Amino acid sequence: MIRVIVAGAAGRMGQAVAGAVDGDQEMQVAALVDPVLDPGPGHYGDLASALADAEADVVVDFTRPSVVFENALGALRAGVHAVVGTTGLDDEQVETLGAQAAKSAGNILIAPNFAVGAILMMRFAAEASRHMPRAEIIELHHDRKLDAPSGTALRTAGLMDGEVPIHSVRLPGLLAHQEVLLGGRGETLTIRHDSLSRESFMPGVLMAVRAIRARPGLTLGLEPVLFGDR
Ligand code: NAD
Repeated sequence: MIRVIVAGAAGRMGQAVAGAVDGDQEMQVAALVDPVLDPGPGHYGDLASALADAEADVVVDFTRPSVVFENALGALRAGVHAVVGTTGLDDEQVETLGAQAAKSAGNILIAPNFAVGAILMMRFAAEASRHMPRAEIIELHHDRKLDAPSGTALRTAGLMDGEVPIHSVRLPGLLAHQEVLLGGRGETLTIRHDSLSRESFMPGVLMAVRAIRARPGLTLGLEPVLFGDR
């Protein structure tokens, strides 16, 4: 059994993760962590208390940009693996987490997007950018998303050739969507991905939870797990 602590368990993603872990035959929920959770067995208001109290193998973090760094560092220092979906970590924080993972028993996987279709979109966009001269990204999300541009858009642009401007749209009714538009002579190519429900992220999250033990140090993105590279 893989024992999983869900940080951000009362949030939109955290609730879906807790349900997905609970429904997986190889996993069990070791603790639910969220300051707004009702008190109850296995419920904690902060990750440090859960790590001190509950036996766990992996922390899955879907919290806030302002707390994710401390949470991930705390998990690694406790020798527990971390699967991080929260976006907003800067390069220096990612580097620090990588260095901590390299010297502790805990490994870390940080992925801005766990949807398999979104990862394929990023790969296809990177490939297309080698062959078409210009590209721009439009990312569209629900209006309660705290960061802009999205972590997925930044990562997509980082994987593509050339300067790729990003446009962010925040509207109620949306969930998570991205279009990569490429332009050439007399033609355009549009690669679009839509997450229609938070279920879209769960197969990727469970895949990461299963894989993390065998991936020493830092893994960036779900791609190495999905495509089988290091
Ligand atoms: P949300 O606001 O619904 O949930 C965040 C939860 O974290 C809240 O319940 C909040 O109370 C809790 N929280 C705050 N401080 C905490 C702490 N110190 N310890 C534990 N919990 C704490 O947000 P959401 O929509 O679930 O998104 C969470 C994050 O996940 C965002 O950064 C979002 O961009 C990201 N996200 C990533 C993916 C992906 O595939 N990687 C997909 C969707 C969302």
